[in-house]
Amino acid sequence: MKVITVPCNFDNYAYIIICEKSGTAAIVDPAEYYPVYTALQKQDVQLKAIFCTHHHTDHIGGLEEFLAEDPSLQVYGFKDDASRIAGLNVMLEGNDVIRLGQTEGRVIHTPGHTSGSVCYHFDNHLFTGDTIFGAGCGRLFEGSPAQMHGSLANLITGMAGSTHLYFGHEYTLQNLKFAQFVEPENSRIQKRVEHSTALREKNEFTTPSTLEEELETNPFLRCSTPQVKKNVEERLYVDGQSPQTIFAALREQKDSF
Ligand code: ZN
Ligand code: FE
Repeated sequence: MKVITVPCNFDNYAYIIICEKSGTAAIVDPAEYYPVYTALQKQDVQLKAIFCTHHHTDHIGGLEEFLAEDPSLQVYGFKDDASRIAGLNVMLEGNDVIRLGQTEGRVIHTPGHTSGSVCYHFDNHLFTGDTIFGAGCGRLFEGSPAQMHGSLANLITGMAGSTHLYFGHEYTLQNLKFAQFVEPENSRIQKRVEHSTALREKNEFTTPSTLEEELETNPFLRCSTPQVKKNVEERLYVDGQSPQTIFAALREQKDSF
């Protein structure tokens, strides 16, 4: 499977994914019509489907125009979001198997940022929407910290460290500042800051990252590590009886960081 990253709006990412064996394409999060349409025109492919990670306007802003152009498009999203995503016609549940041409994928339901957030996993590619960002995670608009913590755990369980993570926003550098605040002694975070800064100076994207990289630098995936637990307890005055408590304290602190 081939993935093309399309920057949209101010800091959103849409992705064009292509099953090269069949020449079919899909869009993950049609954030805006024109940039995605233009990128698609450069490929010799047939657009078949749209995969929505969640209902927020900054991720589905181009959906109506793609559907107006081709009403036969399959529009995938979580079943309970049918009333919030106009044009949704393939209702998903967690663990559903999906197909693009000859490539098979899987849906992971990850409530937290929104109740109907889903991630899409094809081969070595995971599309995370606003659930995981580079060195961060989404705000909890429609879920509790415990629910989001559970969603993240469920998402990455059994997933290879080499899996590429394609996220919905270019927030990596801001998130890394928070990661450094949480874990100043983590040299992997410092390395990632340097690498990400160099990418952004060249106007390149920090997406995709790898799961391995996130596990080493993303504080929201590190709530069980002794150093994070210790730092949060000492500096945020939290009794970290459980990783969920640490996660909740981190999420709350990040909201006002
Ligand atoms: Zn969102
Ligand atoms: Fe968003």
